[in-house]
Amino acid sequence: MIIPRPTRILGLAVAVTLALTATGLLLSGSTPTGDPGTALPASAGRTALVPRDLTGQADAFFAQFAQHTTVVVESHLPRRSRVPLRSALSYVDRFTASRFVYGSCPADPAAAYCIRVYQGGLANPAWAALTDWQGTSARIVFATRYYERRGFPYRYRYVGAVHELGHAMGIWAHNPSAASAMYYYLPRAGSTFDAGDVAVLSRH
Ligand SMILES: [Zn+2]
Repeated sequence: MIIPRPTRILGLAVAVTLALTATGLLLSGSTPTGDPGTALPASAGRTALVPRDLTGQADAFFAQFAQHTTVVVESHLPRRSRVPLRSALSYVDRFTASRFVYGSCPADPAAAYCIRVYQGGLANPAWAALTDWQGTSARIVFATRYYERRGFPYRYRYVGAVHELGHAMGIWAHNPSAASAMYYYLPRAGSTFDAGDVAVLSRH
C-alpha cells in the first residue's frame, strides 16, 4: 500500500519533534513586549542564550512590582494541558516575599502584580514555554506541542513551570549551571533553584 504523501510529511514532523526532545528543549527566551515606557536592557533579548550572571539586569523593570505583596495568578490553561502549575507555584512561593493568589487579575494594575498563564503555539518549535511581559503583567505560555503530548514527562512539565515562574518573579537571566531550574535546556536542568536564583527571588 502506498503511503499517502501527507502521512509521510506528518511522520517527518514527528521525527523532528522527537529529535529536538532528545537534544534538549529550550526554555523560554523571554521576550520583553512590555509597555514602551519600561526599558529593558537591550542585552536581555530572547536570543541571548549565553551564560550571564544573575545580578538583576532588569531591576528597573521589576521595581515596579516589588512593592506588591500579592501576586495574582490568572490561569487560562485548558484541562488537557496538564501543567503542574500548583506544584510549581508552591515551590516558587517558598523563596519569595510575595503571596500567590489564584483568581482574576485586578483591573487596576497598581493593585497587584499579575501573572497570566496560557497554553498555545510558540514561534520557535524548540521552546517548551515562554515568558514575556505585557505592560505591568507577566504572561507565561506553555507550548501546546509538548504539554498536550502524553509522553511528555512530568519532570519536564514541572521544571518548565518552575522555570517560567522564576522568570515571571524576577529572574531575568538564565543560570549557566545545569543544576538550576533556570538553566535554558529542559532535560539537563535541575528541578530546583540554586543560591543565585534564590537571591533574586527573595527581592520580590
Ligand atoms: Zn527561560
